[in-house]
Amino acid sequence: MATDPATFDPSRLVAVLGGGQLGRMLGFAGNRINVTCKFLDPSPVAPAIAAGELLVGELNDFAAVARLAKEATVLTYEWEGVDPGAIVAQENTPPVRPSVRALKIARDRGQEKQLLRDLDIPLANFAVIENEGDIEAALNRVGFPAVLKTQFGGYDGKGQARVNSLDELSVAVKGFAGAPLTLEELVLFTRELSLIAVRSLTGETVYYPLVENLHADGILRITRAPALDLMGSLEGMQDQQKIAEGYARSILDELNYVGVLTLELFEGNDQLLVNEIAPRVHNSGHWTIEGAQCSQFENHLRAILGDPLGSPEAIGASVMVNCLGVMPNPEALNSLPDTYLHDYGKDLRPNRKVGHVTITATDNRVVEEQLLELRKIAPEIFLGLGASTHRSSGV
Ligand code: AMP
Repeated sequence: MATDPATFDPSRLVAVLGGGQLGRMLGFAGNRINVTCKFLDPSPVAPAIAAGELLVGELNDFAAVARLAKEATVLTYEWEGVDPGAIVAQENTPPVRPSVRALKIARDRGQEKQLLRDLDIPLANFAVIENEGDIEAALNRVGFPAVLKTQFGGYDGKGQARVNSLDELSVAVKGFAGAPLTLEELVLFTRELSLIAVRSLTGETVYYPLVENLHADGILRITRAPALDLMGSLEGMQDQQKIAEGYARSILDELNYVGVLTLELFEGNDQLLVNEIAPRVHNSGHWTIEGAQCSQFENHLRAILGDPLGSPEAIGASVMVNCLGVMPNPEALNSLPDTYLHDYGKDLRPNRKVGHVTITATDNRVVEEQLLELRKIAPEIFLGLGASTHRSSGV
């Protein structure tokens, strides 16, 4: 999309590494607050092309990053797989927010878990495996059942394997062909939650309400916002909200963080564990576009530019359903009130996140009724979820 010269404000030009759906939604959010986003992505048809100028190039190509960053007020990223070296190598780089330190830690499971441990934030027991010689010590520390994960580049369930025996572990380690790994205890959680925190350049900080996430095969399928407690009460989440905000606050302070930070959490019977952190806008925050006073995307841009933050408060209740490899017929959804279909403009491929649907309503009961209607109208986006769309478990 070309920049409109009539409204372009050069002091509000944001360079974004990555042009996927997160970039696209950042760009759309920018349009509302006169922020122009410019993207770098290897694909000439990346989703963000609909939301701003797209430079085509590899994210680890120093020259391409320099071209993107030239004249931008701030450089940000929509994917933590980007190479920090390509950013720091720039001579006239605009400020990078969130910082390169935050990026380096969050993209490396080993460093990320060490940070959590150093900050006394509860997390699953883990051990680093750098070569086959580390297997035995890792096993002694973590035990079975466990989850083996690549330290770099894993997402949507990729780069991980569940293991139940030494044989399975040895095979899985070999399968990752020398990549540095972490072995984690398999957590028997009650459900998965996440928290989105935003800290501005000015230090102003806001937190979105905790949300409940349902995953299948490691991929997020459904987010309910705000999360209710297991008895269906919002008030009952206050303690969990405070605990999660405390975790986020420690990380934000430690990293002097600027931008959106997401915490993925496992809720157990008596503990909230952090699974991982994402230094960026997050899939479990898509509901905020229609379901919160100010979306995570707008707040990320506000934060990195030092604008006052918008309210993270939820407007009633929302549910977000990811469309994996298939889009529903938009006309079929017309009969559902307050239902919003987002099409990322991607080619349809199995298990690829190609869009999402958000339903909003004044209360949780109505949202759940609407979700059942959606399931009848568009069963294709619920494939693989079984009869219930409630709660996953670690087993
Ligand atoms: P991750 O790539 O770490 O975000 O993991 C993707 C998903 O796999 C999580 O959202 C969980 O559903 C599942 N998972 C990851 N780690 C564990 C674990 N240690 N115990 C149980 N389930 C896990």
